[in-house]
Amino acid sequence: MAHLINDKDLSFLLYDVFEAHKLNDIPRYQDHDRTTFDGVIQTAKRIAADYFAPHNSKADEHEPKFDGTSVSTIPEVKEAWKHFVEAGLLNPRHSYEDGGMQLPALIHSACSGLFASANPGTAGYPFLTSAAANVIHAFGSAEQKETFLPGMFNGSFSGTMALTEPDVGSSLGDLTTKAIPQEDGTYKIKGQKMYISGGDQDITDNIIHLVLARVEGGPSGVKGISLFITPKFLVNQDGSLGSRNDVQLAGLLHKMGYRGTTSTVLSFGEQDNCAGYLIGEEGKGLSYMFKMMNEARIGVGLGGAMIGYRGYLESLDYAKNRPQGRKPTNKDQNSKPVNIIEHTDVKRMLLAQKSYVEGSLALCLFASKLVDLDEAAGDQDSGILLDLLTPVVKSFPSYYGPKANDLAIQVLGGAGYIREYPVEQCYRDNRLNPIHEGTHGIQSLDLLGRKLWMHNGKGLQLLMAKVNTTLANAKEIASLQPLVETYQKKLATLTQTTMTLGQHLQTGKVDEALANSALYLDLMGKMVVGWLWIEMAQKAVATFSDSESEEDQTFLAGKLQACKYFIDWELGEVEHQAKLLTSLDDTCSSMKQDWF
Ligand SMILES: Cc1cc2nc3c(=O)[nH]c(=O)nc-3n(C[C@H](O)[C@H](O)[C@H](O)COP(=O)(O)OP(=O)(O)OC[C@H]3O[C@@H](n4cnc5c(N)ncnc54)[C@H](O)[C@@H]3O)c2cc1C
Repeated sequence: MAHLINDKDLSFLLYDVFEAHKLNDIPRYQDHDRTTFDGVIQTAKRIAADYFAPHNSKADEHEPKFDGTSVSTIPEVKEAWKHFVEAGLLNPRHSYEDGGMQLPALIHSACSGLFASANPGTAGYPFLTSAAANVIHAFGSAEQKETFLPGMFNGSFSGTMALTEPDVGSSLGDLTTKAIPQEDGTYKIKGQKMYISGGDQDITDNIIHLVLARVEGGPSGVKGISLFITPKFLVNQDGSLGSRNDVQLAGLLHKMGYRGTTSTVLSFGEQDNCAGYLIGEEGKGLSYMFKMMNEARIGVGLGGAMIGYRGYLESLDYAKNRPQGRKPTNKDQNSKPVNIIEHTDVKRMLLAQKSYVEGSLALCLFASKLVDLDEAAGDQDSGILLDLLTPVVKSFPSYYGPKANDLAIQVLGGAGYIREYPVEQCYRDNRLNPIHEGTHGIQSLDLLGRKLWMHNGKGLQLLMAKVNTTLANAKEIASLQPLVETYQKKLATLTQTTMTLGQHLQTGKVDEALANSALYLDLMGKMVVGWLWIEMAQKAVATFSDSESEEDQTFLAGKLQACKYFIDWELGEVEHQAKLLTSLDDTCSSMKQDWF
């Protein structure tokens, strides 16, 4: 049976660290309590274990096929979709009147994480459908909501996000897909989109593509981009299916991982007859899309964290059961070999994984709670902090999740490299996460070039206030004091680095200050996750130190050790990175093409 998550860790994070049970103070969530939350999580876990995990490897081996007319996926994918939908997991956050459960984002993320761990490929379909439905729900007209949302909520329609084109990826302002206004208020869409996940499949009756396109005659750049509902089949007002729209599958792409999700090249309007319906106002397409991207990016971060988590648990299990070698001091060849978990180097690799994946999960759950406080409780500060942290929440788990999977392979040795064991697939699946939803490099530019300075830098002030509260609490615990002191020094370095880079940006040295933005993203990510590790350690002491249960004491000891590992080992690079950043080191920027 697949190891999806450490249940005790999830419960600790939800209730002891992020106090999910107090969310019912928010009127929208007042009907919920810990019992209802646990009930939904248990349902999600059962469906993930029974209907998603069992075909994870099969879907990887038998990727979707296109015979020139239609796409076929293995039947287990449709079966998993059916159970997911029947459990109400497709739109759990929506209002009761829309058929939802008014579930907090925090609990929804806990559920989504289980599916990402079980089978990220199949989990891609509901993830994309929810994201597309959320955009229509937030910005669509009443008629659009009535027409498209019921099908997207009841699972007969799926959704996609169609941004990327063959020649336009990161630089969306350059996209060329056209939207030609028609007399009846609709548009004809014309152009090609590439890498569109779930762009065709045999799971649902219809697919609702959200397409970014440029209205003919409109301004160039981002201001000319609008967003269109472009269904595979037209939908009558009563929700029934009409004729086929002019959206053609040009082909499937064959990927390294996430092979269970179709990746498509789609042609819109080859017959000049592709109907699209404008969402909101012309020219605001990217802003609508990006408003919803905050949550989609938490979803990508969560994917990175949970695929990393799955690999960690698999490698931990293997290490506990694989006898090999003896301690360096034991020269007796006739003695029993130890299990590899006894070797310090294997412990190092497991500790690194534990610190990355549990830290990443904490980060994603923290961000999800900010969504709740912002959207459901109207706390603007939480929204500002979420804006600042979104690039970090997307990027840290996406970068360190695959690193964890890389270490998981190493723990298994040769077994890690062969397909009979799940960790090589985890690595291949997870390697997508630093690429899609804004690459690592693009996220770093967004953080250093934009997010830090929004709202006059208030996001950073809010973050620092939270960090300082944690440090003050942790300082009261003798065993945490040395870690707090180490962290505080590094925090001063981060603050100084941020101020120096801010001054350079203000005085016009923009290219120079942004040249090493990826280092800054890494530095900030490590400091944010370091903070969460101290928060976890402090909460673990508060929760478990008086417990007489051996399980609690073991859990506490593990959290403290992983916190120590992260602060003492992983934050070691902070000063070096800060030096490269503040000196505007030009080793990379001054490299010439022909020197390579
Ligand atoms: C499996 C998969 C699924 C996907 N699903 C979807 C989907 O459902 N919908 C959708 O619309 N798209 C999807 N994408 C596309 C994805 O979002 C893009 O691949 C991504 O945005 C990068 O674009 P690109 O591939 O064109 O790379 P490019 O933009 O060409 O980037 C290549 C490299 O150059 C760097 N780079 C580019 N510009 C800059 C810059 N200004 N400064 C510094 N570095 C830069 C990037 O960081 C990257 O390392 C998917 C991609 C994959 C692989």
